[in-house]
Amino acid sequence: MSTSERPVILRNLRNYLTFLKDYGFSGIPSDSDIVLKLQPNTNKATLSTSNNEGPTKMKATKSITKKINISIEKVREALGDCNRCDLHKNRKTIVFGSGNPHAELVFVGEAPGADEDEQGFPFVGRAGKKLTEIIEKGMNLDREKDTYICNIVKCRPPSNRDPKSNEIESCNPFLIKQLQAIKPKAIVALGKPAASTLLGRTVPIMKERGNWYQYEGIPLMLTLHPAYLLRAYTLENRRNVMSDMHKVLAKLKE
Ligand code: SF4
Repeated sequence: MSTSERPVILRNLRNYLTFLKDYGFSGIPSDSDIVLKLQPNTNKATLSTSNNEGPTKMKATKSITKKINISIEKVREALGDCNRCDLHKNRKTIVFGSGNPHAELVFVGEAPGADEDEQGFPFVGRAGKKLTEIIEKGMNLDREKDTYICNIVKCRPPSNRDPKSNEIESCNPFLIKQLQAIKPKAIVALGKPAASTLLGRTVPIMKERGNWYQYEGIPLMLTLHPAYLLRAYTLENRRNVMSDMHKVLAKLKE
């Protein structure tokens, strides 16, 4: 390690340890054989794990993703000034998605809230800050460069109610096309509505989180929504989310 790299590495390490402490760890987690590897050239810490990923449940789906070439810009263009469902009536902006359109990792949430509707970007409110913390401190990835983030519906439901099934259905073709355009190595569904939409069935998220599924041939991890995590900020929930994210990091390294 050169002298100039030392402050960066120490800062990354301190951030990571602070984060682990906040998430209830009293040391580097060893229950999934996680090993912290510092990479001075990229200023990144990566996690490698053994293949201890718990039960794997794969849904039989046809893998069409690789065969479709479409750009994210074309998908946005096709969405246009959308009025395909009633959510267009109260929205200020369409919150299409943000991040790297070539990212290996995509997070899919539920719907924009007030802050997102105002600013036009997903996950910029309190839950967004929590997600950014999980990505940047917990996974040591760069939110903008290493991930892409979007929701199952692109317009804010009034009073932040749950999106209705017909609204999800209207917006779903654009979510599918987004994922086809990005072709990520892994997808993370944040919370029950996103998990249920991607798997096409009602998902009991507390029971099924932490397991791998497949979406159109792409590994899909289910985890808790950061807004839920904020509401139920228990040690168990925080540890569970981090455990899920460690599995995702391991998958990205395969
Ligand atoms: S939620 Fe989706 S389908 Fe509905 S109006 Fe917004 S962009 Fe269109």
